[in-house]
Amino acid sequence: MIISKSFFIYFYFVSDSSYIRLPLVKNNFSMSALKTVTIAIDGYSSTGKSTLAKALAEHFGYVYIDTGAMYRAVSLYFLKMNIDIHDQKAVERALDDISLEFKYVEDKQIIHLNDEPVEKFIRTKKINNIVSPVAKISAVRKKMVALQRLMSEGKSVVMDGRDIGTVVFPHADLKFFMTSDLAVRVKRRYDELESKGHDTTLREVEKNLLERDRIDSTRADSPLKQAKDAILIDNTRLTRSDQLQLLIKQVDELIA
Ligand code: C5P
Repeated sequence: MIISKSFFIYFYFVSDSSYIRLPLVKNNFSMSALKTVTIAIDGYSSTGKSTLAKALAEHFGYVYIDTGAMYRAVSLYFLKMNIDIHDQKAVERALDDISLEFKYVEDKQIIHLNDEPVEKFIRTKKINNIVSPVAKISAVRKKMVALQRLMSEGKSVVMDGRDIGTVVFPHADLKFFMTSDLAVRVKRRYDELESKGHDTTLREVEKNLLERDRIDSTRADSPLKQAKDAILIDNTRLTRSDQLQLLIKQVDELIA
């Protein structure tokens, strides 16, 4: 497939503080040449990427890959094994002992760390606090990116994370970048933690989100940023259904 992107024209939908910016790409490639579809969804913490990516993948029968869960599982392993993340040799040795896999358990995709289901343990406050420092480490990123590419081989996938459209799949067929107001993101994460019985406060959640965004956006290796050909979605005032319909429309146009 030859893709030549000659220039971008941006088109804005504006509704209050929510907007979507669509790059209309003038190019010369034919979608009929596409065998599989790769969709990248990146964005800030707690912007609802995973929920949207999962629903989109379900709609089209594509594979969904939650890359955040992978960094969280590595963090859990480091925590359990008492790995000093500043000790490069120890980190590299530990990475050699880690295997990650997504398996379907009762119709739900569950991340397995060395064959153990760990979904229940990776969304705690402790993991929230260490995951960004762990994800900063180049050796960790190198292993995760290689795994993510391997998991996607020969499949149509929807993958969400921080570096999917910029590093993992810079030639993804469609890229989205999600953002929303901080207050909305804080409430979303607070409700999620509370519903799982975790004791926390709005202030604590806000602090963690800001800190993770800061580390993720400023790290040297694969910083979180919008790919220049990504569609920007501010979902501050969009319902889940609005967002899903928007993405479905884009994918429908792509595969038409
Ligand atoms: O998406 P989620 O909030 O579960 O991601 C947890 C953390 O994992 C992020 O804050 C970021 O530090 C890291 N991450 C990353 N690259 C990805 C996905 C997640 O650095 N592709």
